Amino acid sequence: MTVPLHELVARQAARTPDAVAVADERQEITYAELDRRANRTAHLLRARGIGTESLVAVCLPRSVELAAVLLGVWRAGAAYVPLDPGHPRDRIAWVLGDTGTSTVVTEESLVDLVGGGGAEALAIDLAAAERDALPATPPPVAVDPSAAAYVIYTSGSTGRPKGVVVDHAGIANRVMWTVGEHKLGEADRVLQKTSLSFDAAGWELFAPLVSGGVVVMARPGAEREPATLVAEVAAGRITVLQGVPSVLRLLADEPGWTECTTLRLVFSAGETLSAELARRLAEPTGAQVWNTYGPTECSIDVTAQPYDPAQEAGPVPIGRPIENMRVFVLDSDGEPVPIGVVGELYAAGVGVGRGYLGRPDLTAERFVPDPFGAPGNRLYRTGDLARWRPDGALEFLGRGDQQVKVNGVRIEPAEVEAALQAHPDLRDAVVVAREGHAGKQLVAYLVARRQVPGDELRTFLRERLPEPLIPAVFVPMDAFPLTTSGKVDRGALPDPAAVAAERGAAYLAPRTPEERLVAQVWEQLLGVERVGAHDDFFALGGSSLVLTRLANALRKASGGEVQLRGLFGAATVEAQAKLIAGGREVVPPVTRVARDEPLPLSTGQHRLWFLNQMHPGSPEWVAPLFLRLAPGTEAHHVHAALDALEARHEALRTRYVTVDDEPRQVVADPRPVELRIVDDGDADGLSAEQLELLFAEQFARGFDLVDGPLWRALLVRGGAAGPVLLVTVHHIATDGWSTVVLERELRDLCAAAVEGREPQLAELPVQYADYASWQRARLTDEVIERELAYWRPTLAGLPALELPTDRPRPPERDPEAPACGSPSRPGSPTRSPRSGGGTAPPRSSRC
Ligand code: AMP
Repeated sequence: MTVPLHELVARQAARTPDAVAVADERQEITYAELDRRANRTAHLLRARGIGTESLVAVCLPRSVELAAVLLGVWRAGAAYVPLDPGHPRDRIAWVLGDTGTSTVVTEESLVDLVGGGGAEALAIDLAAAERDALPATPPPVAVDPSAAAYVIYTSGSTGRPKGVVVDHAGIANRVMWTVGEHKLGEADRVLQKTSLSFDAAGWELFAPLVSGGVVVMARPGAEREPATLVAEVAAGRITVLQGVPSVLRLLADEPGWTECTTLRLVFSAGETLSAELARRLAEPTGAQVWNTYGPTECSIDVTAQPYDPAQEAGPVPIGRPIENMRVFVLDSDGEPVPIGVVGELYAAGVGVGRGYLGRPDLTAERFVPDPFGAPGNRLYRTGDLARWRPDGALEFLGRGDQQVKVNGVRIEPAEVEAALQAHPDLRDAVVVAREGHAGKQLVAYLVARRQVPGDELRTFLRERLPEPLIPAVFVPMDAFPLTTSGKVDRGALPDPAAVAAERGAAYLAPRTPEERLVAQVWEQLLGVERVGAHDDFFALGGSSLVLTRLANALRKASGGEVQLRGLFGAATVEAQAKLIAGGREVVPPVTRVARDEPLPLSTGQHRLWFLNQMHPGSPEWVAPLFLRLAPGTEAHHVHAALDALEARHEALRTRYVTVDDEPRQVVADPRPVELRIVDDGDADGLSAEQLELLFAEQFARGFDLVDGPLWRALLVRGGAAGPVLLVTVHHIATDGWSTVVLERELRDLCAAAVEGREPQLAELPVQYADYASWQRARLTDEVIERELAYWRPTLAGLPALELPTDRPRPPERDPEAPACGSPSRPGSPTRSPRSGGGTAPPRSSRC
């Protein structure tokens, strides 16, 4: 009898309540806390009428909260419908309407995005107090294994996406296969990097949570930044990683990949895995590489096979069925084909989903009676072509229909065609995937009333389609080639380069220094020769996956500022050169300034200082950091580590003084850091409530910005799993990003103290006060005017924030106000790294 995953997570929480379950860039929570939050979320949902077989849409960034909400949806008896916060508002509205769901769980910053679909938005951050007051035990709901667990929308051949309904038995089977086959356990740290709108995200989340491991949430957006992902694997000591080959290839290209030696398993999914890539993934890391195959309709995966290092070239087979699944390769009469003969792949077993939401016709077409199984069983017709090898493994040989995969994303060309046909200047569109020199690309052939520039089409499509469904190349045509039966002959569509040559789009050498610079950067990045002024980045093989690299490379080469969002709408060399010429501003590096007089505050510090003035010493700005220390770490080791950190980071010993009515910062000499110790004896038998009380006492103690200190710590020893350190810091000295650094360095310093060696931390060439001086020097009237010119119309119409009148005036110059502690890019909005909400300090679990 299958046990639903949320029940297995509850059992795990009972086994290891104090172990870390989920970590994101700002906090980590234990199994006990995850369990409580999930239960409370379930009560919150049930109070809104959610129950068995309800659908609850979830639109949240990757975070600790996301894991708790998904479990909460299940514990309420409902199924979740993931919505990617990166998708356009219209598409989200369409999906919400299609599900007919009454509720979408989201956060405050995304309420507008999900507002078009007629569902009530439940902002989980705003509902925190209501939720915290609800029972921490689960509601009495029994979930049947055949109940829907989730609905995932995938590209649809009718021009609209379709929702695939998967049940609890199916997803539990897939997750438990990974846990059993790969012996996932408490030592595993799995990177959750896949967008929840892809089914594969499900096992990244739940496989570690049913086996005592840690889900490490990749930073939102990291999935588009290979260098960031690689850095997160190394820094997060990730042991298990999955990706599509298009992304895995970019990861293996990163110099940092060789440092990802904590990896023991790499799963490739969604596209053909070549032996060459498998080797490049496996050799430097020592990880075992698996090729997994399956459609969304079958609970993520149907077959799997480890890469055999003896295989030198060619595609890695997709292997054999996973536990409780069966596969058949059938001919057009539905008869099994012999070994070596190509046929269509059909899947059977517990993983086969329930069908398409609200689409009985389509469900009947693809989920057919299983002639080889028990009465009532169904086969899923995958539409994939495959053949058996003599050794019993399967080879994947492509599609039998028009569905394509580009950068690992499943795309029905008809959906993209329908979106293009909505453009008033286009008569007709045909979309295919073609092999470009840098991999597969989506190419749109267009018959138009007028020539529509590619950038305009991309902007148009971005309002309607997710980024991966936007064609890279647009080819103007007078008419499409037709077959004898009058259908578009997709096979006869011309090579885009040939059309460009025929239409006289001759090579135009880059004309200005900026164009030459952009062309050179592209040549290096895309490995192409002779880039011309009118060439298009996407047409030459660029994709959204390499756009971040392009922005970095252009920034480096030009010394100016190049915004990613600008590049999306400027695909030619000419357009990007204009961006550079317009935005070129020689940005001086941050250098060390003298400390002989009080220094100015950064805009972020200024904001926190101002807010602090309203309630000096208030606990509101206490930012916590929890660390579970290695067994054997003694109080004197922790003392040494804290003092070393105080000496190392001036931000932790900065004092805020007033000079001529203006706040200024002064860096004080290091002082011993306060460490409260609850030692072995005292800790014996400490209950969870007592621990909470201890932590609450620390949270209640604010800080004095004038005289310090700005941070302190509490060490609780004696727990079975090792000592626990709670560090509290005033938010003016830390934020989500810097907490990650502080945690890493504290761990290193403690480890060095325990081992009696010198810590190995790189010198810090500049400190936060240097950044603050640099930022203030750059905030000229001209820069402020530019920023205001952007923000005034952007924020126009929003209600003004009423500030108290009997308090100090807000800082006059605060156009960019980064989250405190992290130099944010000028021009970027004021947002805390994750919540998008701005000023809230990082909140952590109350263990
Ligand atoms: P999705 O529903 O997005 O998971 O896409 C499923 C489709 O991706 C399958 O029907 C195949 O066409 C393709 N696919 C999935 N896994 C593999 C693999 N390991 N090798 C080749 N193609 C794959």
